[in-house]
Amino acid sequence: MCQSILQSTAFFSFLLGIDQDLAREAGAAGCRGCGGRLLQACYPRKPRGAQCPLGPAYRQRFSFCCATCRRRTTPCSVRFLGRRVYLGVVMTLACALRAGVSLRRAGVLTASLQVPLRTLQRWRRWWLEDFVKTPFWRGQRALFMPPVEECSLPESLRSRFQAEGDWEHWPRLLRFLTPLTSRTANTFVGGR
Ligand SMILES: [Zn+2]
Repeated sequence: MCQSILQSTAFFSFLLGIDQDLAREAGAAGCRGCGGRLLQACYPRKPRGAQCPLGPAYRQRFSFCCATCRRRTTPCSVRFLGRRVYLGVVMTLACALRAGVSLRRAGVLTASLQVPLRTLQRWRRWWLEDFVKTPFWRGQRALFMPPVEECSLPESLRSRFQAEGDWEHWPRLLRFLTPLTSRTANTFVGGR
């Protein structure tokens, strides 16, 4: 089932490829402040939640620094959905599975995903209380017809991206959410 994507090296390589594309675009665009040339200045990360070996590129969130004015440019990411340690896919998957799951089964779930129950509850609160208030979601929700049931986020959103029996909707969903990982909408980062 869904959880096996966390064991798929191919899946994580695919997400890395998307992040590399996003970084290439951002790097080529130059500094938003002065138009200067951007130099690579990645942030260190210690991603958790994957159940397969991740290459050294996963220990970095791609970012740039302007050669002239030193201003930071951090492109969106499908791997790091704001949280510093847990991969975005883990955060979304865990909450999606949590919806409607009993507390006892949630315990089994958190053990297999190696996410503490408290963290899971915090994420869930973020989806139900903070995500729904983001300018991003307020702008996007009208595009879904019928409307996404906000009380069962993120599962209700995830299911809209799901094609019959494949995993390919995960990158699509994560890519849809990337505006939340940019600096202007970093409520994901703040939602502790
Ligand atoms: Zn600059």
